[in-house]
Parts: sequence; C-alpha cells; structure tokens
Amino acid sequence: MAAKIISGTEVAKQIREELKKEVEELKEKHSVVPGLVTILVGENPASISYVTGKQKTAKELGFHSIQDNQPDDISEEKLLGLIDQYNKDPKIHGILVQLPLPKSINETKVLYAIDPAKDVDGFHPVNLGKLMIGEAEYLPCTPAGVQQLLIRSGTETKGAEVVVVGRSNIVGKPVANILLQKQDGANATVTICHTGTKDMASHTKRADILIVAAGKPKAITADMVKDGVVVIDVGVNRIGKTESGKAKLCGDVDFDAVKEKAGAITPVPGGVGPMTITMLMMNTVKSAKVHAGLN
Ligand code: NAP
Repeated sequence: MAAKIISGTEVAKQIREELKKEVEELKEKHSVVPGLVTILVGENPASISYVTGKQKTAKELGFHSIQDNQPDDISEEKLLGLIDQYNKDPKIHGILVQLPLPKSINETKVLYAIDPAKDVDGFHPVNLGKLMIGEAEYLPCTPAGVQQLLIRSGTETKGAEVVVVGRSNIVGKPVANILLQKQDGANATVTICHTGTKDMASHTKRADILIVAAGKPKAITADMVKDGVVVIDVGVNRIGKTESGKAKLCGDVDFDAVKEKAGAITPVPGGVGPMTITMLMMNTVKSAKVHAGLN
C-alpha cells in the first residue's frame, strides 16, 4: 500500500496559524511584538530569495521585522558592530545572518557574536551545547521542523529505531541529538550514518524512522528500507528545469519507489522545506516571551 504523505506545507500552515494567534495575544495582553532582523550581505540571488521569504512570513505573522541589507564589501568589524547594536536593541528578539558571507569575513566569528539569547537559528555553540545536555532553548530550525513533522503526523518516537543519514552540524547531528533526548517527541534509539559507514543498508533497513540529509539524489532506494518505515527526506537537490523554466527539485530519497514500501513519507518540495522558516518564527516568538519574562 502506498505511504501516507506527510505534508510539511499543511503542518507549517497549522503552526503559523497558532503563532499568529499567539502574536496577537502577546500584543494585546502584554504589548510585546516579536522582532526579527535578517542581515543580508551582498546580492547572492539564493540568499535574497531566502531572506525575502523569511521577512514575508514575519510580516504575515505580525512581527516587527527588519531586513538589513549590507554591501558585500562591508568590513568584518562593521558587521560585528551591527550585530552588537541588534544584540542591545530591546525591540529585536531574533537575529539572523544569512549565509554564506563573503570570503573576506570570518563566518564563525560573526555567528558567535550573536547573543545566544537572540540566536533564533540555533547555531550558536551555546545553544548547540544546551541541546546536547537536554536543556535546549532554541533548536536549529530544520531539525526542529523534522521533529514537529514526526509529532504532528502522530509518529511514535519513543523507543523507535531512528536512523539519520548525514552528520552535518546544521541537520544530521542536531536532529540526532533532539531525538535522542529523554523527552516527549524524542526518546528514540538513534544511529547516524555518513560516508564512512560500512554497509549503510544494514542500518537503514532497521529503521522505524529514517531521516535523510545527505544532499544526494536517490541516496536511499526501496531495497534499503523496511515495510512501514516513516521517511523524512530533508534533501533538496536541483536536477534540471521544469517546463516553466523553474529549477526541478528532488530529495535524497527515491520517492516513487520508496513510497510503495513506507508507512509515511515527506515529499520534496512540500515536506521539510516549509517547516524551516516556520521554526525560525517559532523561535522568535519564544525569544520575545523569554525577553519579556513570560516564559
Ligand atoms: P552537508 O553538510 O553536505 O552534509 C551531508 C552529510 O551527508 C554529510 O555528513 C555526508 O557524510 C553525508 N552523506 C553524503 N552522501 C552520503 C551517502 N551517499 N551516504 C551516506 N552519507 C552521505 O549537507 P546538509 O547541510 O546537512 O544538507 C543535507 C541536505 O539537506 C542538502 O540537500 C540540503 O540542501 C538539504 N537541506 C534542506 C533544508 C530544508 O530546509 N529543507 C535545510 C538544510 C539542508 P560525510 O560527513 O562523511 O561527508
């Protein structure tokens, strides 16, 4: 039987509706307006499109939102000064620096300069460390989106065999850490696979939940999964163009074949993608509440 499709578009819409109500309530009852600044350096078309999407969503939810565009020859010192200014700005609860930055700027130094209490991307080592010890405040957005998809699709994680393919610092490692915690919506037995893994199929075939973030089309084929598995495909790969000239997207999983064996599966596009921005908004609302002493 073909798998149930877990729609990230639908789940994201549901969460955004909840957030919109929460933002209205924060304004009415506490005069608190969540504030998000996105800092864009240079004119990389993909980065422009990402920050535009983030700002559009922030505005739709009723945030105080600022898009701060800086030229690609901005000095590291000036960028750090700008971050310091937003760190101190009481109207700003979330600071996002769109990556990549020009080569002349030390990306790590810039990310580490963001106040961890305003790090709504969840990439600051303080926040990653807190995640590791089960005291996370701001979860990185894509991994948090994966967890929400599991929770809201009614997938039992407690005691489940979770296999994560990919060990990047932004997806693989944090998602594995999230699902490992002795907490609701987690408490799984987690295995991480990577290019050094021997006989990857022997691991993926054991998975009740398979999370794939490899960045390789068809990294997972039907013979590598067991019947009934829940598959979350994080991968976004551009493979040619559609008839209308847009980039054609696919995930890391051979969707058509795997959906015939899986119990549930996310599509690409329309799976994890819409969740990432939504989790950024969720983190910003949380930060606004924390800063106002409401959380
Ligand atoms: P990344 O930094 O390139 O990491 C990929 C990981 O996958 C690495 O750990 C690599 O292993 C492993 N890997 C690659 N090919 C493999 C294979 N054939 N078998 C086993 N492991 C393999 O990528 P990322 O930043 O985590 O992103 C992964 C994918 O998710 C990309 O397609 C990206 O576009 C997508 N993504 C989507 C969203 C979203 O919002 N939907 C957000 C972030 C990323 P090694 O460590 O051994 O090299």
